[in-house]
Amino acid sequence: MTDLIDPFGRQVTYLRVSVTDRCNYRCVYCMSENMTFLPKADLLSLEELDRVCSAFVERGVDKIRLTGGEPLVRRGIITFIERLSRHLKSGALKELTLTTNGSQLAKYAKNLADCGVKRINVSVDSLDPAKFHEATRWGQLEDVLGGLSAAKRAGLDVKINAVALKDFNEDEFDRMIEWCGAEGYDLTFIETMPLGEIGPDRLEQYLPLSVVRERIEARWTLDGTDYRTGGPAAYSVVRETGKRLGFITPLTHNFCESCNRVRLTCTGQLYMCLGQDDCADLRGPLRGGESDTALNDAIDAAIGRKPKGHDFVIERGNAAPSVSRHMSVTGG
Ligand code: SAM
Ligand code: SF4
Repeated sequence: MTDLIDPFGRQVTYLRVSVTDRCNYRCVYCMSENMTFLPKADLLSLEELDRVCSAFVERGVDKIRLTGGEPLVRRGIITFIERLSRHLKSGALKELTLTTNGSQLAKYAKNLADCGVKRINVSVDSLDPAKFHEATRWGQLEDVLGGLSAAKRAGLDVKINAVALKDFNEDEFDRMIEWCGAEGYDLTFIETMPLGEIGPDRLEQYLPLSVVRERIEARWTLDGTDYRTGGPAAYSVVRETGKRLGFITPLTHNFCESCNRVRLTCTGQLYMCLGQDDCADLRGPLRGGESDTALNDAIDAAIGRKPKGHDFVIERGNAAPSVSRHMSVTGG
């Protein structure tokens, strides 16, 4: 089987899979309070998702990240991960990981570690219980902290993701760096991206990470590192804590030249770029027959039109999101 090389010579080695667009939280930058989710009837079964993931693994994908929505609220998810882990055992997959809101980790951290998951990303936007509840609309910080303790006991490495929100968690960044240092977590700050209608005005939430970085550098020493994931994060090491600090800046920095990833939705649509609307249907070819020939043809055609880059904009007078689907559809 041939590798997946796009028209710009970039090899696709990383598949992100949104296993569900549903979530037990309603984060203010991610979802509106009253979300309409994809019809359940359109969902790929976990067996079908396994088939698509395995087809990608055969074509050279060596990293899979499960995301959502909240991946750990999909029924049967642990059985699915257990099955997928055969590709870790065979050596075809170097990493199987997930991004989670952490609310279900107390229940599942040990299962994940048993499946060969080594590291996870957990989203925590505030360490203040009231603010955390406000940001997630429905979440309780103590559930996530309990989940993080379980992850630690299970031996999982943790990276915390925090979305930088203007006038909301700006005053907590130093505290978060300290906390992550004390707990042994890496930390990444994310700029809000214009994905989907969410209710509040995005410009009100948008805080450029160039500003955040400047403020952080006034207090902490950030040493350069060549650590890269092929994604939009630029990493430094905080000298005082020894932990990595990343900045995901899709709006202020262009990271597309090194893009190695594509994204699959829970209904079998493949997005070749997080910041574009174009997608390819893999569900039809998948359901079209027992063999993976049609599926592989559809994957080839999709990779053949992976765009050079995204066109995100957040600007005054442009209230409509650049991309109409929510982050929970394609996964963060
Ligand atoms: N539910 C899981 C979680 O919260 O980690 C996984 C899915 S969530 C969509 C993945 C990441 O995307 C989270 O870190 C979240 O903070 C981030 N995110 C969601 N909507 C975003 C937006 N509009 N701009 C920037 N980041 C966003
Ligand atoms: Fe759910 Fe994650 Fe979106 Fe928050 S960011 S609503 S936890 S999918």
